[in-house]
Amino acid sequence: MKITALETVRVTDHANILWVRLHTDAGIVGLGETFRGAEAVETFIHTALAAQLLGRDARRIDALSKQMTEPYVGFRSSGVEMRAASAVDIALWDIAGKAAGLPVYQLLGGLSRDRIRTYNTCAGYSYNTSGGRREIGAADAARGPYDDQIAFERDAGVLAESLLAEGIGAMKIWPFDRYAVPNGGTYITGAEIAQALRPFELIRKAVGDRMEVMVELHSMWDLPCALAIARALRPFRIFWAEDPIKMQDAGALQTYAERAGVPVCASETVATRAHFLELLRREAVDYVMLDVSWCGGLSEAKKIATLAETFQRPVAPHDCTGPVVFMASTHLALNAPNAIFQESVRAYYSTWYRELVSVVPRVADGHVLPPEGAGLGTELHPRVWQRPDAIVRRTDLGAL
Ligand SMILES: [Mg+2]
Repeated sequence: MKITALETVRVTDHANILWVRLHTDAGIVGLGETFRGAEAVETFIHTALAAQLLGRDARRIDALSKQMTEPYVGFRSSGVEMRAASAVDIALWDIAGKAAGLPVYQLLGGLSRDRIRTYNTCAGYSYNTSGGRREIGAADAARGPYDDQIAFERDAGVLAESLLAEGIGAMKIWPFDRYAVPNGGTYITGAEIAQALRPFELIRKAVGDRMEVMVELHSMWDLPCALAIARALRPFRIFWAEDPIKMQDAGALQTYAERAGVPVCASETVATRAHFLELLRREAVDYVMLDVSWCGGLSEAKKIATLAETFQRPVAPHDCTGPVVFMASTHLALNAPNAIFQESVRAYYSTWYRELVSVVPRVADGHVLPPEGAGLGTELHPRVWQRPDAIVRRTDLGAL
């Protein structure tokens, strides 16, 4: 089954996302996605990967994955090369599933569970979809019932009750971020720590221990600040502290894990099993977070999940990106024996994810349910390709 064309598309209101379609001579089309630097990834796919992929057998997923994720330069990072490889790899799995008439989770080894627990990343509707972070000011008003970033900053206790009412028993928030911005994460005062602890106090007061709470630190702090924050968080029994520092030195994260007194989650920013192996060998991570569209695709994500399992660590795939990543991650999270959570954002899957793709994974009673149909089980709506702002690029086998 020959790959005959590569297509990419991106749109202005979700400028961070790039979708990829692989066409084959069997008429099967595979869908992939990646996130951040969409234009650069698009360029890499058409100028570098096209020559490696067009004319090749789409069923040789491992061989193509190895070629794409182990280039001469750009390997072992989540840079442009790896994000391009990841999007293409996801599309190859979609093709394989469609060719076999099976959902991708079945090809990965089948269901390890009937549904996967989810936690809500309290991001609101537009966090992270174009550009960088969203800073909430006093004058900002909620844009709808699920503007959960505003909700966690204003009254996290009410937000926790709203999530529990939907059966969602875990939530992730990032009230420390704003204090890292002015000084590059090198200093945090006692008053700032006290202010950032407010949401945790309100959650515990409102719902007690019925809610699991994760803190996201977005790799914004240096080690002493991250440790000061961890010490302050200990009484609140948080589920994990995610990305407390930059993932550039496994030794620093190991020191954090030894001293923090809270469980460590890392890291969606890390790519390839080699980097995760280093974190695991040093006992620097309790929960392995990976992003299927950054780490090397579903092929590499499956290997990282298995590696984590060998080290007796759970895996929790990342979302808060785009709808195809959510779908692909759900397949992995249903399959991997050591998966513990599939991240989701209720503001996304209840609104704009639905405007872009035909099927969004169903979330019910705090769990994500198995997708139906062959392959990933979702397609970009044709209207996305036809939008006036859509930037569509195609490279055909005949053009090489
Ligand atoms: Mg994260």
